[in-house]
Amino acid sequence: MLIILQSGAPDAVLQQVVERIEQLGMQAHVSKGEFRTIVGAIGEENPQLPDLLRSIEGVENVVPIMKPYKLASRDFHHTNSTVTVGSVVFGQGLPVIIAGPCAVEDCQTTRHIAQAVKAGGAQMLRGGAFKPRTNPYSFQGLGEEGLKILRDCREEFGLPVVTEVTDPRNVELVCRYVDMLQVGARNMQNFVLLNEIGQAHKPVLLKRGPSSTVKDWLLSAEYILSGGNNQVVLCERGSRGFEDEMRFTLDVGAIALAKVDTHLPIIVDPSHAAGRRDLVAPLALAGLAAGADGIIVEVHTCPDKAKCDGPQALTEEMFSTMMRQINQLTRAMTAVAS
Ligand code: PEP
Ligand code: MN
Repeated sequence: MLIILQSGAPDAVLQQVVERIEQLGMQAHVSKGEFRTIVGAIGEENPQLPDLLRSIEGVENVVPIMKPYKLASRDFHHTNSTVTVGSVVFGQGLPVIIAGPCAVEDCQTTRHIAQAVKAGGAQMLRGGAFKPRTNPYSFQGLGEEGLKILRDCREEFGLPVVTEVTDPRNVELVCRYVDMLQVGARNMQNFVLLNEIGQAHKPVLLKRGPSSTVKDWLLSAEYILSGGNNQVVLCERGSRGFEDEMRFTLDVGAIALAKVDTHLPIIVDPSHAAGRRDLVAPLALAGLAAGADGIIVEVHTCPDKAKCDGPQALTEEMFSTMMRQINQLTRAMTAVAS
């Protein structure tokens, strides 16, 4: 961490800065220039130190050098991590395709969708049993009954299952039925939930909050990793922007940036970003081209009857077409890389 003193700051300021650094067990290296004094704080960084130093009158700027997240950062783990869910591996080169309905509505519909996405090339099934809805009167999900349907589909079709857990009290319940826990965008900073999931022995899909920076997102991943659960996959799903013809604005730059800053696998959710099915395939391709390790996409065999997010659900045919495009893109990207 570098501490830059104001031009002409008296020696008392320097003394105070050095004392504060040493009190927190770090070493201070002072560099006096003609006009400015700069102090380097060396050692294990205390997260309180930047604010403690900024509050000293005469300190102009405090510049952290290391990232505030350690376990998620490439500073401490240079090579890409992989996360394994059943037979599926995230971060190993080939894109992982997760597809399914927004919500688990009933057994028959979920089975039909699972069958369709498997035939189209999906490796995992998605579906919400606990739905975080903006409107309290909207369909809230089937709860445990939905989890049972997902478990049965996993057994019938051999597709590992991911579902959202919205409440820390349900983490154990959800772990009993599925292969991967999803933290939804609205819950990215639900720190009680993140701590509980950090104790779980299940891979996690951590969505980025619609108004969160990449740094906030990686700090949320750090909550899970520091709890002892190192099986985290990140998911970009669009930020709140000013464009009103799409539900959110897919931030492909955040995928590229997060790839630089973290070793964790990252996938893209084009469905919740677009909010409309005609834009889902182009956004999926853009996310993969920016470096995403896979996609999670909403598909419904009867989108006009869907209880949740019908307008953004791909039909079976659209899913198959998108899969062909993804395969072409993957071949082209492999050729460019070699
Ligand atoms: C979902 O995946 O169904 C969902 C609600 O996503 P998000 O948390 O990204 O809105
Ligand atoms: Mn949805």
